[in-house]
Formats: sequence, C-alpha cells, structure tokens
Amino acid sequence: MKNISILGSTGSIGIRTLDIVRSHPREFCVKALAACRNVEGIYDQVREFLPEVVCLYEPQAAAELAKRLGRSPVKVVSGDDGLKTVATLSGVRQVVFAMVGARGLGPIFAALKARKSLAIANKEPLVIAGGLLVSEARRLGVEILPIDSEHSGLWQCLEGRKAESVKKLILTSSGGPFRAKKSGFGKITPASALKHPKWKMGPKITIDSATLMNKGLEVIEAANLFDVPADKVEVVIHPEAVVHAMVEFVDGTYLANLGVTDMRLPIQYALSYPRRLDNDLPALDLYRSGPLHFHKPDLRRFPCLRLGFEASRAGGSMPAVLNAANEVAVELFLAERIGFTAIPRLIERVMERHCLIRRPGLEDLLETDRWARMEADQQKEGLR
Ligand code: MG
Repeated sequence: MKNISILGSTGSIGIRTLDIVRSHPREFCVKALAACRNVEGIYDQVREFLPEVVCLYEPQAAAELAKRLGRSPVKVVSGDDGLKTVATLSGVRQVVFAMVGARGLGPIFAALKARKSLAIANKEPLVIAGGLLVSEARRLGVEILPIDSEHSGLWQCLEGRKAESVKKLILTSSGGPFRAKKSGFGKITPASALKHPKWKMGPKITIDSATLMNKGLEVIEAANLFDVPADKVEVVIHPEAVVHAMVEFVDGTYLANLGVTDMRLPIQYALSYPRRLDNDLPALDLYRSGPLHFHKPDLRRFPCLRLGFEASRAGGSMPAVLNAANEVAVELFLAERIGFTAIPRLIERVMERHCLIRRPGLEDLLETDRWARMEADQQKEGLR
C-alpha cells in the first residue's frame, strides 16, 4: 500500500488522481488533500477518502470546511504552512502536485527536503525552477516523476537509455482550437479559446493550449527535466494526439509513446512506477485513430511557442519571467481586459525589460516572479 498526498485535489488532475485511487483501493491510500477554496468539492473528497489532514489555502474557506466537518478527526489547515504540512506529512511516500500556477513551488521544495517521491503535474515549478529542482533531487536521491502527458511519454521512452545516445526530444501538440485558423486572431474571445478539441482541462491550461504557450512551457520543462539544451527539443503539430512524445536516437531510431488522450494514464504510471497496473480506461483503437499527421508549427501565428524556445535558450531567470507574465496575460484575457494577440506581446515586453540572472537561487526566482507580475501589470496599458 502506497500512502500519497495530493495538492490541488479539486482540479482536473486532482479529480483524476482520485479516480485512480478509487479504482485501485489496495494499491493507494490518500493521507492528505489540499485545494485552494473549493469547500463543497473537498468536503465530498474528505468524506470518501478519509485523509488525516486536509488543507484549504484560503483561511475563510478552511474555517467553513472545519465547521462542516464538525467532530470528524480530520485535521484542517490553511495557508502556505498548511500546504507545507500536506507536502511533508510523515508516513506519506509520494506527493502529487497538481496546483495551478507558481504557488506550488514552496511545497515542492519542502517535499523534496522531506525526501518524498514527487509526482508533478503542474508545469510551472519545472519551468520556473526546474534546473534547481532537478539538481537538488539528484543530490538528495529523490525521484521526480512527470505527469504532464508528453513528459511522461519522454520519460518512458528514455528509461534506461544513456544521455549520449539521445539526439532529440520531440513533443507533440494537437495544435489547439486555432490550428487551422489563418487570420482574425485579434477577434478571438475567451469562450472560443476555452473550447479545446482533444483534452478537457482547467481554464488556464486551455488558454495556454490555444496560444501554444502550453507547448512553449513544455519545451522549457523538458529541457530542465531531462537536462538537455532547448535546441535538442522539437515540437511537432500532431492533430490526432495519438503520439504524445518521441525520442530520436543518434543511430536514427525513434521511440514513441502512444495512448488515448486521458490524463489518468500518465497519472497512474507516476503512481504505480516502476510497475504497470491494469485499469478500465478505454483502449487505444489503432484502426480508428489514423491516418496520423505531423506538421511543423507556425511560429508566426503562434508567437508564444517562439517565446518559450527563447526563454529556454536564455535560461537562468528568463523562464520564470515568461511564466509569470503569461499568467498575468491569461488572466487579463479571460477577464476581457486584453485581446488574444496581446498575450504574446505583453509577455515579450516584460521579457525584454528583464535583467537576466544567470544562476538564480530559489529566492532570486521568487523575486523575479514577483517583479514580472508587477511589470506585466504595468505594461498592459495601451495593449488591446
Ligand atoms: Mg502536456
């Protein structure tokens, strides 16, 4: 029996992680849950999975939950300390990180120090502080298991291979809802950008998929996680989303990871690693999934992907700038304060104004994150 904690349990990844636990009751046990403010959602989860500790980040929501749980023995905590408690709880072997945004960074480093196995679904920490995280994990002998589907695919193709045998890491992208769109990007509304053709996800990542920033972040994530330069990472548009990732080796051989587009697959592998468990997920039907297409991405129509490569090449603190400016830009777009094409323009403005720190520590990265958010908020004026 493996004891786990889940941070971000009421989001789309958290809910699917609990699906896996529910379908393998003899394999996994939930010891702690954390979410931001969803009292209703986490209340039902607590009643079903009976964790020892539950955290709602917002103190008011936590107080409401504690009141609803009444005399239940579950300990309710809140704030950054609460997240840290969930991430480091004794008796827990693996922590699943599925919180949106940069807030997951503190708890991840706390879990790392407590030598928990880290299953990371949200890409921001691996983008902002990936280099630091990976080198610390190596030093402490802690495993980092990616849940992001493309990175799970790369990890599975790379398992047991020598670094010098790898020529290229290839990430596929479905191309998002605007793959075939040739013009009129300025008129895109939040409602139309929130309709993703292949994956059902939260709003932030769905907008990132529409701008292809999701893939830009994944380029940085892959370079950090597998310790390769950005120029060894390639993005391929693959509308059918059957192939999630490929590795090209120096002898010309390719290995690919294929599967249905269901996040429960990479989540389950991170939970069960190194074993593979049976499940009831729909199987991939090869005869119905083709023909498969592969195209070069258009960086002119999707400048966010270009910015992802540029930030990865610059390295140091630049990925943290890109990530923070993007979070602000997406919020502004969702609130209809800026247009769709202003998202990359705002991010680029902030990147241009940043003074690069080549070898940042965690504090430098957190400070850079704060600076980039403020700068993005100022630079939004005059953008539509
Ligand atoms: Mg992905």
